[in-house]
Amino acid sequence: MQEYQIKVGEIDRNFDTIATLPTQLPEQSILVSSLEKQWAAAESQGNRLFATQDSAAQQGSGAEAIQLQRDLKQISDNIQRIKYKLTAFQNDKNIEEAQIVRERVRQLVTLIFSMALALASICAYALSRSILVPLQYLEQGVKHLGEGDFAHRIQLNTKDEFARLAATFNVMAARLAQTQNDLERLATLDGLTEVYNRREFNRWLTISVERSHREAEPVSLIMVDIDHFKRLNDNYGHQVGDQALQSVAQILKQAVRPGDLVSRYGGEEFSVILPQATSADSMVVAERIRESIQDTPIALASEERIDLTASLGVATFLMDDDTEISLLHRADQALYQAKASGRNRVCQAPLICLKNSA
Ligand code: GH3
Ligand code: MG
Ligand code: MG
Repeated sequence: MQEYQIKVGEIDRNFDTIATLPTQLPEQSILVSSLEKQWAAAESQGNRLFATQDSAAQQGSGAEAIQLQRDLKQISDNIQRIKYKLTAFQNDKNIEEAQIVRERVRQLVTLIFSMALALASICAYALSRSILVPLQYLEQGVKHLGEGDFAHRIQLNTKDEFARLAATFNVMAARLAQTQNDLERLATLDGLTEVYNRREFNRWLTISVERSHREAEPVSLIMVDIDHFKRLNDNYGHQVGDQALQSVAQILKQAVRPGDLVSRYGGEEFSVILPQATSADSMVVAERIRESIQDTPIALASEERIDLTASLGVATFLMDDDTEISLLHRADQALYQAKASGRNRVCQAPLICLKNSA
């Protein structure tokens, strides 16, 4: 009897356990309800059997008790099996769900990291472009400036510090270009008359003679010396003398072609290089200059006019001439001849002088 009670308690507890298992095993309800039926039959049989106090009756039903015992064991085993099955199914289910959740988390984390990486790459690219590109432009600008290219300007279409730096650079480059121009002007021009200076004359004479050799073309040289300039200075002062020098320089510039080079050789002497001009061409130009100087008096503030004349020596580069020095020497000799022949005239090496109409 006691053993029976223990078994009943055990089976009831197992039924309670099964009822509390939150499982979705499809055949759960079929299995449990068939077992419950089995148990209900066995329990009613047991209750009936043990309700009989009569030992004779109990003895008579010995075979029934043994059967009951077997049924109870079978029910107990079955319920135990169902419990294990449900628990195992539940574990499998949990593992499966855990795996799904884990896979989803993995996918989510991968997605988040991929997006973060893409964003970081875009930011890094944009950042690198916004810094490296302007830096490259600035670097190129500095390089150009370092190579003496003051015309180079940095073009940055941004509105940041780099653009301000580029603007400052451009202003600086423009000022340097202006300074460079001024310096070049100062270095090549004569300050008083604004024709080329002696150094530039020497440079161009060398270039012109070399080209003449190379191209087998003539080049002519005219030396111009104002007559009695010392007297003009003495009579009217150096300021008037300077005015006369400026006037002669203007006449020379107007008398020549664009490719010719007028320079102040020194003091009251000027020179004109005439590339490609034959001796006949240069004599025409020289005579035009002489006439123009003679016909252009210096106008003073007092309305007094001072006549001015000049003597000119002309030489043309010959193919067998050795250097520009010999050309210069012959032009000088012709000038000396013009002075010696009475001034206000043009002489040509080898020593032919035009008679002036005066
Ligand atoms: P010649 O007819 O023989 O050439 O006589 P010249 O007086 O013209 O020549 P000379 O060489 O005797 O005098 C040249 C003068 O030119 C002397 C010098 O004071 C003057 N002179 C030189 N440079 C300048 C200058 O920049 N301005 C002025 N006003 N005079 C100058
Ligand atoms: Mg002189
Ligand atoms: Mg003179």
